[in-house]
Amino acid sequence: LHSRTFHSLRPNIPLPPPSQPLSLTEYALSLLPAEATATGTSAFIDAATGRHVTYSVFLQQVKSLASSLQSLTPLAKGHVALILTPTSLHVPVLYFALLSIGVTVAPANPLSSQSELTHLVRLAKPAIAFATSALAPRIPSLRFRTIPLDSSLFDSMLHNTNGDVKKVEVSQSDTATILFSSGTTGRVKGVELTHRNFIAVIAGFYNLKRVPEEEEEHPVSLFFVPLFHVFGFFMLVRAVSLGETLVFMQRFDFEGMLKAVERYRITYMPVSPPLIVALSKSELVKKYDLSSLRFLGSGGAPLGKDVAEDFATKFPNIEISEGYGLTESGGGAARMLGPDESKRHGSVGRLAENMEAKIVDPATGESLPPGKKGELWLRGASIMKGYVGDEKATAETLDSEGWLKTGDLCYFDSDGYLYIVDRLKELIKYKAYQVPPAELEQILLTNPEIADAAVIPYPDEEAGQIPMAFIVRKPGSNITADQVMEFVAKQVSPYKKIRRVSFINSIPKSQAGKILRRELVDYALSSGSSK
Ligand code: AMP
Repeated sequence: LHSRTFHSLRPNIPLPPPSQPLSLTEYALSLLPAEATATGTSAFIDAATGRHVTYSVFLQQVKSLASSLQSLTPLAKGHVALILTPTSLHVPVLYFALLSIGVTVAPANPLSSQSELTHLVRLAKPAIAFATSALAPRIPSLRFRTIPLDSSLFDSMLHNTNGDVKKVEVSQSDTATILFSSGTTGRVKGVELTHRNFIAVIAGFYNLKRVPEEEEEHPVSLFFVPLFHVFGFFMLVRAVSLGETLVFMQRFDFEGMLKAVERYRITYMPVSPPLIVALSKSELVKKYDLSSLRFLGSGGAPLGKDVAEDFATKFPNIEISEGYGLTESGGGAARMLGPDESKRHGSVGRLAENMEAKIVDPATGESLPPGKKGELWLRGASIMKGYVGDEKATAETLDSEGWLKTGDLCYFDSDGYLYIVDRLKELIKYKAYQVPPAELEQILLTNPEIADAAVIPYPDEEAGQIPMAFIVRKPGSNITADQVMEFVAKQVSPYKKIRRVSFINSIPKSQAGKILRRELVDYALSSGSSK
């Protein structure tokens, strides 16, 4: 077989020698510009309260928390910490402190239901948890302790100046995070990403600053993307390594966002595509001064070509830089860089630094040339170590040569731009949030009135996709669409709710018993089947 590999067209970024002990915290803080601490720059601002933390205070807090964690709890290298909280000023210090002493950060979606959390705990095996006191009761903590983040205990840990941090040698190959993703099939799994995986991601950004520093106003980003997702996680670490200011919005509301842009002179926002649609359609934007806003980074789900074009006409001074990646690739695998690349609407930009790709024909395994569609495979320093405690799923996703099978149907054009055509995998993305169909199917099958069920993505303008269920009723059952939706809604996070239902006589399956989702999607679209 002729092997066609696509290489990044960006300059190769030298990484620290792999054998050098180096935590992600040490690495990011070694890049942090000295001015950031010298000039009293704010690192983080809470948009709701206006409270802020400067870089110098942040650095002190990271140290005191790390030493408190070593002495009070006591936490040691190799332990896992489950984190359950909405975005707050506590999150960055917690991440950086834990990583500095070699503790793995496992952040869960704060919307997770109790049964979802039980599954995550089983996967991650935490030695400790950190949660807001409102969320803490949801954690099934039989063998470990949960520290409330809004407690005087945690506060004292942040301000404990008498302890020194005991030196811990963190290898780059140690696991930094367990992030939760369903990957290409099945239920949620724990994606193990190493310190080196993120060092590679950060190095790529760091070495390719867009504008010479003197010309750039101080970058201030507004974050409402979740910090438990790979996108928010690496954007947070990236911002710290560049000494930027981050403004956090714990609870997203559209007008609140516009107000925050005006008030804090926001220059950049990482977003998911539904927000770009909302901005283009909104009349409210005229009421606010958005002139500081220069870039939007869009990722996590497809951004329609029309949406990007519409936005460009309405906001000619705001550049959308689209990026593509997976939790399993440590986030950014391809992205747009600079105004020329950003004009390639419909593409997700070019391969990130140090990244290789193949486009593989799913039927023959052949790697294909530019212009031809196939499954995207990725290889590079930011690709995950594997799924925690799941060798089978790991082997199905990562091959022996280190290629990650993304489950996305893609092609490259002859200029190296990547286009995402479709999703071959099961994953549904509701507003860029992951909804694993297998999980919803399992729940549906526990209903005594349901004989069989399949869940598929149904296109939706606002959300991108919504989860739709095909239901085979048990003989004699008259279960209604509303009852089906309610049954699931009671058991899952709100973004995983079934939002459309159709009844069917049997679920189409392959000989091996696999649900033929593609057929169901085609059927749903052609029949426009009602709710
Ligand atoms: P996650 O692990 O939650 O980041 O989900 C990764 C998946 O989201 C990818 O495999 C794609 O299916 C989808 N995705 C992420 N970014 C994009 C993008 N820019 N365009 C299209 N799909 C995307």
